[in-house]
Amino acid sequence: MAKSKLKKAIKRATKKGTASKRIRTDVFSSYKPEENSKFFDGIVSGENALYAVDFQASVKRDYYNRERHCWRVYSKKEPTTWVKSLRSAKAYRLSVLWSVYDGKQFWRPKRRDKKVQSILTDLPRIEGKQGDHSRHRCGNDWCCNPGHIQIGSRKANEIDKHFHYFLNNPDSGVREAFRTTLSKLCSKHKLF
Ligand SMILES: [Zn+2]
Repeated sequence: MAKSKLKKAIKRATKKGTASKRIRTDVFSSYKPEENSKFFDGIVSGENALYAVDFQASVKRDYYNRERHCWRVYSKKEPTTWVKSLRSAKAYRLSVLWSVYDGKQFWRPKRRDKKVQSILTDLPRIEGKQGDHSRHRCGNDWCCNPGHIQIGSRKANEIDKHFHYFLNNPDSGVREAFRTTLSKLCSKHKLF
């Protein structure tokens, strides 16, 4: 490991140690992953009293011209109010857990086991505040469709932003030109 990398790793580990001393009972980290998954399952199924999911908050086409649906959590009391955090965590952290424990049917049977295993490997990395970045393949940072989330480095996250400048451009001509002309590149980076 390079010296600078090692320094950063030590810094991260030290910070983590300090944070874990705090006792919090009302947040994501105070629940077991299975409990956080159950909580999100209630939201997905519509059974939760306070929150629900809009499964077509944004619909866009990807590099293969397939429709991609972005999910957004909203408050039942005020459906126009988008909910960014649940249990003091980003909503997508709960949705990713959900796709491992309660929403396994979300992944296509052929890829399910592999996908669930790779999420379980990556999860500890996003559960820490100093950990790796959650990358939104769709570029919508509020989106909690588990299929739109992948874990990556800060560098990869920065590269994504350049793609999404074009892929989510307010000018539909720019969006379409980028998506269709550079579809192979978008596919390689798994971005849409
Ligand atoms: Zn999305």
